[in-house]
Amino acid sequence: MEQTFIMIKPDGVQRGLIGDIISRFEKKGYYLKAMKFMNVEKSFAQQHYADLSAQPFFAKLVDYIISGPVVAMVWEGKDVVLTGRRIIGATRPWEAAPGTIRGDHAVEVSRNVIHGSDSVENGKKEIALWFPGGLAEWKSNLHPWIYEN
Ligand code: UDP
Ligand code: MG
Repeated sequence: MEQTFIMIKPDGVQRGLIGDIISRFEKKGYYLKAMKFMNVEKSFAQQHYADLSAQPFFAKLVDYIISGPVVAMVWEGKDVVLTGRRIIGATRPWEAAPGTIRGDHAVEVSRNVIHGSDSVENGKKEIALWFPGGLAEWKSNLHPWIYEN
């Protein structure tokens, strides 16, 4: 099954949104495969956002990500990359639909609470970067009530 890398950014942690965010993925029917609570080094944040290094907001983005602890996670499930992005909502919170995480909890693009991989390919790269030690292997007893196979 597909996997995605999700990170609750420092503002999400400070604002007490960890439980709400995890609940949304958990209740949907996705599997938590890895999770850690940590401070990120500057060089690591730069590596995570390497594709955006030419953007004018890059330095500010890196400072934002290292401004406090984050929750790094891997979630697994059917179409979890795209559906995860839809649960998160648009990058710019004013474009994020109500009911999405950013639509419900964010105002500024520079304080938009959460990261989610934008493709299966990038998800694989991000998971390898953040969780080089691998993921948990498990399946819920409820699996057949959520998934056809
Ligand atoms: N970002 C920003 N200003 C912008 C665009 C993006 O501060 O004009 C930040 C924002 O936190 C965003 C992150 O950079 O979540 C990564 O940008 P991307 O376009 O990859 O958005 P995402 O994939 O997070 O929706
Ligand atoms: Mg992105």
